Amino acid sequence: MTQASDYINAVAATVKQRDPNQPEFQEAVGNFLKTITPVFEKHPEYIKANLLARLTEPERALQFQVPWQDDSGKMQVNRGFRVQFNSAIGPYKGGLRFHPSVNLSIIKFLGFEQTFKNSLTGLPIGGGKGGSDFNPKGKSDAEIMRFCQSFMLELSKYIGPDMDVPAGDMGVGGREIGYLYGMYKRLKGSQNGILTGKGLTYGGSLARTEATGYGLLYYTSAMLKENGKELAGKKIVVSGAGNVAIYAIQKAQELGATVITASDSNGYVVDPNGIDVPKLQQIKEVQRGRMKDYAAIVPTAEYHEGSVWDADLQYDIALPCATQNEIDGKRAAGIIKAGAFAVAEGANMPSNPEAIAAYQDAGVLYGPAKAANAGGVAVSALEMGQNSRRNSDSFATVDGELKDIMETLFANSVAAADEYGVSGDYLAGANIAGFSKVAEAMMAQGW
Ligand code: NDP
Repeated sequence: MTQASDYINAVAATVKQRDPNQPEFQEAVGNFLKTITPVFEKHPEYIKANLLARLTEPERALQFQVPWQDDSGKMQVNRGFRVQFNSAIGPYKGGLRFHPSVNLSIIKFLGFEQTFKNSLTGLPIGGGKGGSDFNPKGKSDAEIMRFCQSFMLELSKYIGPDMDVPAGDMGVGGREIGYLYGMYKRLKGSQNGILTGKGLTYGGSLARTEATGYGLLYYTSAMLKENGKELAGKKIVVSGAGNVAIYAIQKAQELGATVITASDSNGYVVDPNGIDVPKLQQIKEVQRGRMKDYAAIVPTAEYHEGSVWDADLQYDIALPCATQNEIDGKRAAGIIKAGAFAVAEGANMPSNPEAIAAYQDAGVLYGPAKAANAGGVAVSALEMGQNSRRNSDSFATVDGELKDIMETLFANSVAAADEYGVSGDYLAGANIAGFSKVAEAMMAQGW
């Protein structure tokens, strides 16, 4: 045992003892700590500064009541959260998730990951995350609007363009951001730098909607290239059919691959000819329908109940784009058996620790979420820049910057892994590169 590993074990024990009921947060911290020992061996001053104790505790965690009236006139009450995790390199930045599973553990895991993801983008943004256990599914537009207005009435007290800039995540898309922004404006006046993912008519950035999915494919292409492979001609399995999945599918097919699946929490479709993106957009973005409805309008698509990761398919690349912990050790074994040589994560923490170990043991190329899905927040930071400048960039300019950011981020992860003797481990590389910048900033700003 070295001094560094003793220190890291002590921090892990403290996190476990302090928050025993936060399994997702424990998992995210555990995955990170497993890879970071070499940095503390090289920088003993980080131990003295107790950087990990400061990084594993949010700077601020807010929980609030969100009362709203449903269409039948009944008063409903949900929980709202905003966790401001770390501001060493810039204002807190990270999405809002509306999903019935949301609790403090999930928001803390997302905020913790966000800190290193945002650092990896090379842009000056700190880490935060928020949301609510509100379930937007099946709600009318008027209910969504009343909920968003009530949520912002409270959240507006804690955010600001140089303080904390939320965006969308699961269950929070353009419609919700619009209602949230409308309420913020009524309360505090017009400041479009307060939220990202806004509509194009009021300060949104071109290519933000596409950014996480496109960025995932730019990252995957870079990872394949580094290993002498390419996307063209490959068969891909995607999970999810939301914002990330739709634009990952679109970009993958534009780059010459065939995406044979898309899914929701009820089931998945398989189409050997490739998912029809305009039809998927029509079902998910316009009609807010289900994958079953997609299968009904695409004759070559077959619908099945259950998880796509339990399907018996043959493919080359897996892109999980739905939610956390969708892939456990058993499903990872299925992915390897299916012939996949690469997994890149569009969703946050979709693979549990057993799944990650299985990929690594089998020599599957593994692109971890905090690097592979950083494109969304990167373009959000570009949106903040456009709002400050009070003008907007073209789609081609933003998309080009996104591609550069993803390629640089991948190269930085490779370089960090090489420097610390863990070449080819893109998870360790991303953790080390993301952490190093935050650590330097924290040290520079004093104790
Ligand atoms: P959306 O809400 O747009 O879509 C989520 C998709 O995942 C839906 O198809 C949903 O199906 C499916 N899903 C949710 N829960 C489950 C489950 N338990 N099992 C199977 N499928 C499920 O969210 P996003 O596309 O925005 O986000 C997806 C992931 O990507 C999340 O992990 C998010 O944190 C991450 N991410 C998103 C970014 C963004 O810019 N939007 C940026 C970086 C990461 P259903 O409709 O049935 O719920």
